[in-house]
Order: sequence, then structure tokens, then C-alpha cells
Amino acid sequence: MQTACQGDGTGEPDDPSSLHQEPVRPATQDCSSFDIVRATQYGALERVTQLVEAGADVNQPDSENVTLLHWAAINNRRDIVKYLIAKGAVVDAIGGDLASTPLHWATRQGHLSAVVILMRAGADPTLRDCEGFSCIHLAAQFGYTAIVAYLVAKGVNPNMPDRSAMTPLMWSAYKVNSLDPTRLLLTLGASHSLTDNLYGNTALHWAIIAKNNTAISILVQHGASLDLPNFRNETPMTLLGPHISATWLEHKIRDEIKEKQGRTRTWCRDKKIRWYCMVSTPLIAFYLIGMVLQSGWDYLLKLGAFITLYVAVYLMNHFVFDERLFHVLPVSIYFATKMWIYVTWIFWLGIHAAWYLWLLFVGGSVPLWICFLQSWRGDPGIITATHEDKLNTIIELAESGGFEPQWFCSSCLVRRPIRSKHCATCDRCVARFDHHCPWINNCIGTHNHKYFLGFLTSVLGLCIVILFASVQYWQFECWSNLTNGHSADNYLVAAATCDAWVMWVAANTSLHFFWVGTLLACQCYQIMVLGMTTNERVNAGRYKHFKQGNPFHRGALQNAADFCNFSFCGVKAKPSSDWLHSFDLKQSIEKLPLLTQKDNFHNGYVLPVKLKEDKPQSRPFWSRLGWKRPRNGKRDKMYEIKLKQVQCPYYAKMRANGALKQHVDVLQSPHEFQPFVSHKELSEGIPSKNAKYDTVKSKPPKYPMKTKLKREEIAEKIEIYYFDHGNSAYYRTTDCHPVLITDKCAEKTDQAATRFWAEIFGTIHIGIAFVTAFILQLLRFVLYSVIRPLTVGILQLIADYFVKPLLSILFNALVQPILILLYNIATSLRDLCEPLAEAVGLFLREIANLCAAIRIVEVKHVHAPTTACT
Ligand SMILES: [Zn+2]
Ligand SMILES: [Zn+2]
Repeated sequence: MQTACQGDGTGEPDDPSSLHQEPVRPATQDCSSFDIVRATQYGALERVTQLVEAGADVNQPDSENVTLLHWAAINNRRDIVKYLIAKGAVVDAIGGDLASTPLHWATRQGHLSAVVILMRAGADPTLRDCEGFSCIHLAAQFGYTAIVAYLVAKGVNPNMPDRSAMTPLMWSAYKVNSLDPTRLLLTLGASHSLTDNLYGNTALHWAIIAKNNTAISILVQHGASLDLPNFRNETPMTLLGPHISATWLEHKIRDEIKEKQGRTRTWCRDKKIRWYCMVSTPLIAFYLIGMVLQSGWDYLLKLGAFITLYVAVYLMNHFVFDERLFHVLPVSIYFATKMWIYVTWIFWLGIHAAWYLWLLFVGGSVPLWICFLQSWRGDPGIITATHEDKLNTIIELAESGGFEPQWFCSSCLVRRPIRSKHCATCDRCVARFDHHCPWINNCIGTHNHKYFLGFLTSVLGLCIVILFASVQYWQFECWSNLTNGHSADNYLVAAATCDAWVMWVAANTSLHFFWVGTLLACQCYQIMVLGMTTNERVNAGRYKHFKQGNPFHRGALQNAADFCNFSFCGVKAKPSSDWLHSFDLKQSIEKLPLLTQKDNFHNGYVLPVKLKEDKPQSRPFWSRLGWKRPRNGKRDKMYEIKLKQVQCPYYAKMRANGALKQHVDVLQSPHEFQPFVSHKELSEGIPSKNAKYDTVKSKPPKYPMKTKLKREEIAEKIEIYYFDHGNSAYYRTTDCHPVLITDKCAEKTDQAATRFWAEIFGTIHIGIAFVTAFILQLLRFVLYSVIRPLTVGILQLIADYFVKPLLSILFNALVQPILILLYNIATSLRDLCEPLAEAVGLFLREIANLCAAIRIVEVKHVHAPTTACT
């Protein structure tokens, strides 16, 4: 019987991306000759059924002592797993060189769905393989966050020790260079103070040994102690000591360590003082700027004052402010402006404001403060869950196959309602998330969005009132200034010269008026015309349900009614707009998978295992020509930083015996793994990734391109999933720990050599400094004590006995007679001309009198108006 060897559909790996990573071959592969092991590996359910019904034993291990269930589990052949279990396969069968169960094999490959099926069939997750690992350790080592979560939710102790008392948290901190599963384990209650048996290291020790910056940050953030010593009496602090200036260590952690070591300046160590400084700086700066403008100082002096102020703020920023600045600054700027505007109203503007302006100002302040407090301190719609709820959600989602980012937040461990988003700033999920507003330091979500709009509207209204009152104030206080000698176009200049403080406040108000108006217009446009939140508008490409138009858009009026949740003039609000509990929109799928969220990328680090779940990446055709062009510079960069490779005596032994094909560090990209083909299969000619196809078409395997492959073409081809049970050494994740004596020696030598040469050059420095100082002091002494009195004395002598007599002789003999002569000549000339001038004057006066008698227009000299401020 000819059976087409079809992958059973369910036997594909969990992620669609692998479809694009593996080559395909024609679907006409004949399965009828497959033995039961190979049929299981290839997911040929029909052939397996046929053989089992013909009497094959489902529990019969193959020549390598591996059962069928192992093969089905490692290849994620879900239907075959179910079938085999139904036919009585032993769920916890031990097989392979590592003496592991099918559950171990499924976990190693990260097949969550196979794990779920096995667990439901009663597989025991606490069993250990011959390396001493139970499933949770494997999942933690390989960074399979979803499996770790599922196992813990199913009751596995997150602190379960392996043979050497390593916990999953330690493995994750040591092996996985991303946020999860370390963060997930800590959230699920894993302890960071446990130590292993061999070295007495805590998870933080392991993270530091691996130079795993991300894990160090998370552990320190979760309160892991920096002072717990291991068996060698090394605390995390002493281990971090030599790396305090290393680039891979996060700035924040560095500061914390320095703070603990007492290296920071004492006056700014107190966090409270720093906080007060940050909050009060805008308040003081606003006042100082206003006062400098108001003062009657010269322009240059004012400029100098501003520069001084800038330098002062810059220095404060450098020495006192810390990372909380981003959260504190916008709110404190807002508060400072608000406070000084109120002060200005009371002492300046209010005096001349008309009664209706007072009414508007007071009346507008009430909704402003109500809306502001509600937006600032109110609940934006945070999605909360109890610990039990979280565990139940994990189980429910894992078993329904929905363990994906659109359903589950790996940070909050909650099921995510439609339109919700995880706010990275506040680290929480918010229902119907709009945006995180730094000006109110809160997220804008379903509960406070209305208040936020109210806040914007009242701010806008008050800005108008204040600007109006400012104009009135200028008209009263600076009337003469405005009308006298100033045209309308320099009205503002006149107002500024009249009262600079009011001008400064009005300028600030105008600025607020401008941006609040823009924001309000945008918000109204989004809510009414688009029916979207800001987040949805920005990230529309990430949500599949926006592909065919916006499903939440129901027309402008309806959108407004939905937003306000009330009906008017026949426009009815949608009955169910409880965005905290709306999960039912099936189409809603974010494109990014669970572990490629932005918060999992950390300083360019990326979880290597993540590539398995990463976005599908078609291999470019030129990659087969022997050279690769980086598709994505960022991604390549991510792999530049690798953890230290571990030399394990076990592998050395294996290599000597020739048994080891290769040892792949866990941090290498999964793409670089050799295809999983056993020796036996290789000899039989099953095509591997590198071997050529010996089918009718002798073309090399084609890599399906997302855009080019038509539906029919896909249907024609089946995917081959390369498997290898194979070499147990490949799977081995090392028992041994990365402590090398030579490494330590090298480190010590490095330190000693650095110190030695530092001392040598220090000595030379002392000598040079001594000599230099001597020469300088000698020079100084000579200059001050010898040269200066000498020079002064000589100059005095020369002046007294030579220059002064010479000058007096010159003056008396030459200059004085000439000057006297010139003076006499000038005087005689004047005397001569005097009568003549008098005669001309008399004559001209007569003519002038004559002209005055016949003039038509009278001319008067008029003084220009004074511009001084009254
Ligand atoms: Zn969240
Ligand atoms: Zn937020």
C-alpha cells in the first residue's frame, strides 16, 4: 500500500517560523516502507496506526533504548503522542543515554504543546535524568519561559533543586541572557537566597560569573543580597568589585554598588534629599528666571545670571539627580508652573481682572483639580490577579494553545484583555491603554481617560482666562507705556518692559495653551474620527484586527457615545465596553511573539533561544553562495556578546573517545545547530540540511519565501523536520562549573602585574614630581627674591638719574619754545580777526531781521516724549 508521508499537521514545531527555516521537499515521499520508529519521527500517523494495529508493541524501545513516545515527543508529533498514550505507552518511560523521559525530551526542544499532552496524561515532571535535572531545570537552562510557567503552574516547586542543589533560578541566571525566565521565576516566588551544594553560590553569584547583566539587574531589583558569601567567602559585591567599571555592567547597578561601598559623596547619598531637590528645582528655577527678567539689571548682567542658573541646574543634574528624574521632572514642572500662576493671579492679575474672569478662574480650577487628581492618582484600569488566578491563567492558556503575547503578559502573568497593553514605565498591564503621560506620571487607560480629557479641556480654558487677564493687567498698569510712542506691533515689547514677571507667566501660559490644545485636538480626533487609542494608532501594524479596518469604529457620534458611555439624542453607547474583561475578539493577534517584546531586549543582549520563536526570517538566496549579508545589523550585533564558553572535563573525555560530534554552547544561535539526523539515518540517505537531495529534481532545497510561495505550492510540499535524538552529548547541558584554575591564575596575574607596574611607575612619578617641584620652586624663589628687587632697583635708578633729567632737558630746550611761539601766533591772529568778525555779524543780523519779517510758517522746536516707565 502506497501511503503518502504527510506530516500530520499537528507535528510541526510550535512556531510558524521554523517553516521558513527548514527546507521542504516534494510530498510524494513514500512512507509505506517506514518502520515504526521512522514513521513516528516523521509524523506519519497513518503508518504508525497501521503498524500498531498489525501488532507492533508501542513500548518496544529501539536499538538505542529509545521508545516511540520519546520520538513523538521530541518531534512534537502531538497526534502520535496522543495515539501512543491511548494505546498504552508508558508515559514516564526512561530512554536514551541520559536516561530521560519523553517529558524531558519535549522540554529540551521547547515543545509546550507536547509537554501539555504528556502532563495531562500523568507524566511526572519531578523525575530527574542521569545528569540530575528535572524538566524545570532544562526549561530554565534553555530559556523556555512558557514551559517554566506551565510547570510551576502545575505545581512544580520553583525552588526545586537539581543534583547539586542548583535551582531553576540559578540556571536561568547563569545560562539565559534575557529578562525571562529569570523575571518570571522571581515573580512566581523563586527564592534568590538559596545556594548550591558545590560552591555555595546564590543565583546572583551565578549571574555575575556569567557576566549576565540582565539577570544581575533583575536579581538586584528583586532584592537579592549583595553580601551573601559562598564557600570561598566571595560575596556578589567582591565578585563585582573588579568589574565595577566594566561596560557590560548596568549603570544603575554600578551606582547601587558604589552606594553600598560608600564611594558616593555623602551629601547626596540620601535618596529623600535628592527627591526633594528634583521636585523643587523647577519651582525655584521658574521663580529665579522671572525675577532676573523683572530686575532692572543691565542686559549683560541678566545674561550672566541665566548662564549661572543654567550651570547650577546642570551641576545639580550631574551630581544630585538620579534615574527618577524622568518620572519626577514633568510633574514638578507642571506643579511649579501651576503654583506660580496662582501666585501671579492673586498678587498681579487678580487685582485688575474683571469679575467674570474671577468667576471663570475659580470655576475652572475646580474641575481642573478634580480631573487632575483623578488622572494623576486614580486607577487607569490596572489588570490585577491573585497568585491563584495567575497560575490558572497560565494553565488555561497553555492547554488551549493560546500562550502568546496577545493573550498573556509575561511580566504581570495575567490574561490580557483586548485593547490592553503593558506599560513599560509603570510595569503593569492597563485596560484600553492609551498612553503613558509623563506630565501626570500615570498611564491613561479605560478608567481615567475621561478625566484626562477633562483635565486637558480645563487647562486650555484656564490658559485662555489667564492670557485675557494678562492683557487687562497690562492695560491698567502700563497704559502710558502701551500707548505712548509704541505702535501695535511692539505691544508685547512694551508689555514686557512694563512688567516682566507677568510677561514670563503669560509666555509660559501660551506655551501650555499651545501643546495642550494640540494634544486635545489629537485626542478628540482619535476618539471620535478614528475610534482608536493612541497606542492602537501608533502600533496599528502590530494588531491583526486592524488589518481590515478598525473593528471599534462605529461612526463619530457613536464613538463619542462609547467613550463617554452614555446615550444622547438616539445615539446609544455600546452595552459592553468593560475593557478590563473583554477577551472575546478572536481576531486580535499581535504579530510579535511572546519573547520578542521590546522589554526582553536588554542593552543589545538577546535571548538566543528566542530566535526559535522569533519572527520568521527567510534565508536569502545568496546565503547559499557561501557568503552572508547581514539582514539586520541589530540582530547580528546581538550575538557579538557571548557568554564565556565552558570547558567541561566530561566533554574533554568524550572528545578523546571520539564519541563527541560537537559541543554547542547553549548561547549559540539555534540556527547554527547541526541538523538532527542520527548516524543510522545518515547512512540511509535521508537528506540533511547540508546533504543534497537525490530526488527527481536535483535542485538544492528551496527555502519558502513568505511572499513568493503560493498556497498550492505549500500544499504540494511537506516540511521535513530534522531530528536527532541523537547524540546525548549534544543535549548535555553540563554539570561542571566554569571555574578554571588557569583562568583564576590569569586574573590574579593580571591584577598583580597591573599593581606591580603601577607601583614602578608610581615610584618614577614620585622622582619626577620631586625634581619638577624643586625646579619650579627654585625658579619661583629666584624670580621673587632676586630678579624682582633687582629689576625694580635698576629701573628706579635709570629713571631717577637718566630718564627724568633727559626728559626735562628735552622739554625745556625744544618743546616749550615752539609751543610758546605757536601760542603767540594764534593769539595775534585772533586779535586781528576780531573786528572783522564783528562787522560781518552785524551785517548778517540785519539780513536775518529782514528775512524774519517776510516768513510764512512759524517753526518751533518740540521735545520728544520721554519713554521712561512711570
Ligand atoms: Zn503586563
Ligand atoms: Zn504607565
